[in-house]
Amino acid sequence: MSGTLRLLPLGGLGEIGKNMTVVEYDGRIVVVDTGLRFPAPDQLGIDLVLPDFTYLRERAADIEAIVLTHGHEDHVGALPFVLRQLDRAPPIYGGPLTVAMVRSKLDEHKLKDVRLQDVRPGDEIKAGPFSVEPVKLAHSIPDMFAYALTCELGTTLVTGDYKFDQTPVDGIPADIARLAELGRDGVLLLCGDSTNADRAGWSLSESLVGPQLEDAFSRCDGRIIVTSFASNIHRVQQVVDAASSLGRKVALVGRSMRKNVNIGRELGHIDVPQGILVEPKQIEDFPDEKLVVISTGSQGEPLSALRRMAAGDHRQVHLRRGDTVIFSATPIPGNERAVNETVDRIYHLGADVITTKDAPIHASGHGYAEEIKLMLNLVDPRYVMPVHGDHKRIRLHAELAEAVGVGPKDIFKAENGLPLEITESGARFGGPEQAGMIFVDGVDVGDIEDVALRDRRMLSADGIFIVVATVSEQDGRSVADPEIIFRGVPFIDDDAELVSALRDAVTDSLARSAADGINEISLLQTHLHDDLAEFVYRRMKRRPLVLPVVVEV
Ligand SMILES: [Zn+2]
Ligand SMILES: [Zn+2]
Repeated sequence: MSGTLRLLPLGGLGEIGKNMTVVEYDGRIVVVDTGLRFPAPDQLGIDLVLPDFTYLRERAADIEAIVLTHGHEDHVGALPFVLRQLDRAPPIYGGPLTVAMVRSKLDEHKLKDVRLQDVRPGDEIKAGPFSVEPVKLAHSIPDMFAYALTCELGTTLVTGDYKFDQTPVDGIPADIARLAELGRDGVLLLCGDSTNADRAGWSLSESLVGPQLEDAFSRCDGRIIVTSFASNIHRVQQVVDAASSLGRKVALVGRSMRKNVNIGRELGHIDVPQGILVEPKQIEDFPDEKLVVISTGSQGEPLSALRRMAAGDHRQVHLRRGDTVIFSATPIPGNERAVNETVDRIYHLGADVITTKDAPIHASGHGYAEEIKLMLNLVDPRYVMPVHGDHKRIRLHAELAEAVGVGPKDIFKAENGLPLEITESGARFGGPEQAGMIFVDGVDVGDIEDVALRDRRMLSADGIFIVVATVSEQDGRSVADPEIIFRGVPFIDDDAELVSALRDAVTDSLARSAADGINEISLLQTHLHDDLAEFVYRRMKRRPLVLPVVVEV
């Protein structure tokens, strides 16, 4: 007598990012990925967007394991926030690079005592009613694993992000043989990547990018600044190789770029020839034609090294005529405007720009339509649930499944919060669970410069609130009407109701702190800041700088 297998996506469907899938059997849970999303341009001042994981918080006692497909932020970025909210931390598994990247992230968040374990393809992870097997696939970061989760009802394959690259830079292609074996043994459900379901044919092999980069480099007389994803270690390898063969030194700029290259070198994923790396502060010591700078910021991220260079605000790299900035990446949907802005500022400084529109200097990490069909044919699943895509790509993935012969009734176009329930007698959607997004505001990691820049950005976009609260020294309760001063906050001038609601929010926040026995001024200010920032965002959908000042009498 077997039970019900439930597949509940908490993120990643109907959107790009924050991938998180709950796989549940007999009430026991394995979570595949805990990703985040970067805010949309209209979510000003929001730093990060996480899936609403209330479901996991309420079911913390039932979570057997968290398995991570790969180290990209849209798959692991929410982990520190999830762990902080679970009263019982489950063991976490991933490939060696994934685990190393996650460990460094958890350290930054000061999360200790986390059971983090690296696994290899073919290992067996015991997780309650599930036996979980990592399967090697290729993507734009090393150590990308799909997971085959087997319970008594059958096997679910969650692919993570993949492409079928026949000539990957590290020479380790997807384990096609294992996928076919799983298919022959019978796969109940396939949850596959839909990112490039709208692109016909096959994706470009990563190893074809290197020669194109070298070709582009050879036509540059001055400095070269290449920007790509910091986690695309194989791309960094190819930039290093091209620089090396043209006799140029390489400087790594941007905190995450330096961090990931270090981790990659330690694990043997990247091989940097002796003496080729130079420190960012030495950049001006080398002739222009002898230098390649590899930088973060390919997505126009506001605090990234490249964005600062473009703003003339980077300490080590001052862009000028003769420099060429090469974008070895395409903008993730939603980032186009920020990227275009960055490109235009670079032109303004007199430098040249090469993008993927000028030369094939980027290969996607996600398989195109024919690769998605290959996955479907290899795995030959009973049911299909496309994941990792907006509504359009999920539908296109469903059409590809139909094209290779999966019955339309066996294809489930899911949504975040909508669980697919499978029993011996069939599959159907169950009642919806809470899902959505939660926002993170505040830079609790990063250096002072990050904070200063962020404050300036918030000030310029949304203005400032200064809240002066007077509290009793004895019990921390508010003893006078809080004073609220604002400058440059749009739409507030004649909104007396909002100002009075803000006063109430201040009093409420102080009363809550008092009830919790908090009377240290810095803590009161922190809570006041968080509560007011949330209140203002809920009311105005804006993020002015909130500066609380608490005075004790
Ligand atoms: Zn990825
Ligand atoms: Zn992804």
